Amino acid sequence: MSDDTVIHVESLSKTYDSGFQALSDVDLEIRRGEIFALLGPNGAGKTTLISVICGLVNASRGRVLVDGHDNVRDFRRARERIGLVPQELTSEAFSTVWDTVSFSRGLFGKPKDPRHIETVLRSLSLWDKRRNRLITLSGGMKRRVLIAKALAHEPEILFLDEPTAGVDVELRRDMWEVVRGLRDSGVTIILTTHYIEEAEEMADRIGVIRGGSLVLVEEKRELMRKLGRKELTLHLR
Ligand code: ATP
Repeated sequence: MSDDTVIHVESLSKTYDSGFQALSDVDLEIRRGEIFALLGPNGAGKTTLISVICGLVNASRGRVLVDGHDNVRDFRRARERIGLVPQELTSEAFSTVWDTVSFSRGLFGKPKDPRHIETVLRSLSLWDKRRNRLITLSGGMKRRVLIAKALAHEPEILFLDEPTAGVDVELRRDMWEVVRGLRDSGVTIILTTHYIEEAEEMADRIGVIRGGSLVLVEEKRELMRKLGRKELTLHLR
């Protein structure tokens, strides 16, 4: 494990109670400060992999270290370093933006810090919407709230699960800008996607997952040089 490794995944397998094996023997290192794109078709195991890394789903085998902390035995230390942006907002339709983000910070036992919440909201252009109830926001603003929630406890690593699935081109570009800004502020980013152009546009490195196995991990430039879009597309079928 090198010094700039922030997440170390070793021989990770996951078989659900149904008997379905969603991950097989995955090894992966995420480097501090990079944008890593996990690219794979529907059902490849992307969400399962990030759920296991975040400690939300138990692995059947293998281990995960987050900044050197085992994500099961030292769950709290590992988890507080991670922010997770799920695909959709769930149940908080009638909460305000401010309350939603502030509540998320509280979940991690962090002291109330209105200045930090303000910084997060301003950085995501949500400050003017802070008193709005989530139900009144546009799709783009709701996605920003998801990111703000994940950043509320000041994590150093951010997982984004298909951040632009089902959004129009303009909003997709908007999200890309937001994510790049976060990386520039020092946050390590891992995003899942099934859009090659998203991985190509955003990532420093790309991992391709199929049928629960990580079949490729490469620097983006190297991967695009070796395979090109056409061959990469074949991996996503
Ligand atoms: P998508 O792009 O469609 O979100 P994904 O790559 O994120 O897909 P996962 O959601 O990790 O894939 O699912 C991987 C496989 O595991 C799928 O076949 C899915 O049906 C199965 N799976 C996911 N969750 C469970 C569960 N709780 N019990 C049983 N099987 C599951």
